[in-house]
Amino acid sequence: MEVKLHEFEKIYGDANKAAEARRQYLEKTIGVRLENIGKTIIDLNTVVGRNIENVIGAVQIPVGVAGPLLVRGDYANGYFYVPLATTEGALVASVNRGAKFVTESGGVRVKVLKDGMARAPLFRLPSLIDAVEFVEWVTQHFDDLKKAAESTTRHGRLKEVQPFVVGNYVWLRLVFSTGDAMGMNMATIASEAVAKYVQQHFPKARLVALSGNMCVDKKANAVNFILGRGKTVTAEAVVKREVLERLGITAEDVHEVNVRKNLIGSALAHSYGFNAHFANIVAAIFIATGQDVAQVVESSMGITSTEPRDEGLYISVFLPSLEVGTVGGGTGLPTQREALALLGVAGSGNPPGTNALKFAEIIAATVLAGELNLLIALARNELASAHQRLGRAK
Ligand code: NAP
Repeated sequence: MEVKLHEFEKIYGDANKAAEARRQYLEKTIGVRLENIGKTIIDLNTVVGRNIENVIGAVQIPVGVAGPLLVRGDYANGYFYVPLATTEGALVASVNRGAKFVTESGGVRVKVLKDGMARAPLFRLPSLIDAVEFVEWVTQHFDDLKKAAESTTRHGRLKEVQPFVVGNYVWLRLVFSTGDAMGMNMATIASEAVAKYVQQHFPKARLVALSGNMCVDKKANAVNFILGRGKTVTAEAVVKREVLERLGITAEDVHEVNVRKNLIGSALAHSYGFNAHFANIVAAIFIATGQDVAQVVESSMGITSTEPRDEGLYISVFLPSLEVGTVGGGTGLPTQREALALLGVAGSGNPPGTNALKFAEIIAATVLAGELNLLIALARNELASAHQRLGRAK
């Protein structure tokens, strides 16, 4: 009888043994050695059924820290050492140098402007007239939909329904507050309860898909940019003129690079990233702290803005769709949890939700530090040499 790889847990009754058997099978069949993938501190019994299937071990990624970074937010207040997991030489050094410049200039002020995880079920109605009637019904029955949604979770709250109509199709973009969780499972489970209620009480609406792609999850898009998803965060700093003078540049030099590259260049490219490299910082923090890395797609959209001022360079960053959590997903894995603990945000906040807000503020401040340094590096024409020095060591 042929045994399937995904059945090994059932056969061995232990995920670590199952993983070892899978590796042995692959080693024999493919003719490779998987001894390093097999070496992990993770008890695989804690991740099977939660984070992974067909598990064979783990990969390791180096982690560095950037800091101290002075953050002045509503939730994050003080100096932070930010963990960054990456294999891109020069990235940690770059963020670290940006952190130094903003910290000695007085730190980064941060605000979370909006907070809401969205899931958008798609319904088919017989006609456009029914579609419009359905949207009116949804508005009138918001409290009932909210009750159905919230019956599935202790922390999730339905905040808003954003309807979109195309002919006889209706997307209900359901926006939830999700406590300290990034909230994608929570919102999906709650949305299913809403969809069930809709079909029971407005039977002309037939569910086509629980996710109708107006959410928008893991795809570059304009909706999240404009309406927000996860945390919508903005951060600002004023870098002192003497800091820039020490580097042989002016606020005007950095501003020129920002306008020509991040604004005009991005407009020419029709990019969703009017920034230099948000994705570098967002991805490195996501990997270190157990976030859903595929959400770097929309979490790293955003704008960097600058102004030369008498006192120095004003710089701000705007991240409309930063999807992060400190509970759930990969945040409970041992190394990822330590990385969150380093920032003082592991697990549930007190009150719930405050850890995720603090975490979002720290990320935005770190993104600003990374942006600043790359703009400075470009203004000083040192981008290639830094990568040669830090990314090509033999
Ligand atoms: P989750 O681990 O599925 O849910 C969070 C859990 O933590 C809930 O059971 C929640 O309980 C509990 N919880 C305890 N303390 C909490 C607190 N302080 N704040 C909030 N919740 C608290 O995590 P999730 O964030 O909803 O989903 C993340 C996962 O979804 C990731 O693994 C991601 O990869 C995956 N994902 C799923 C989809 C999808 O379509 N389903 C799409 C993209 C990503 P209550 O619910 O009772 O409050």
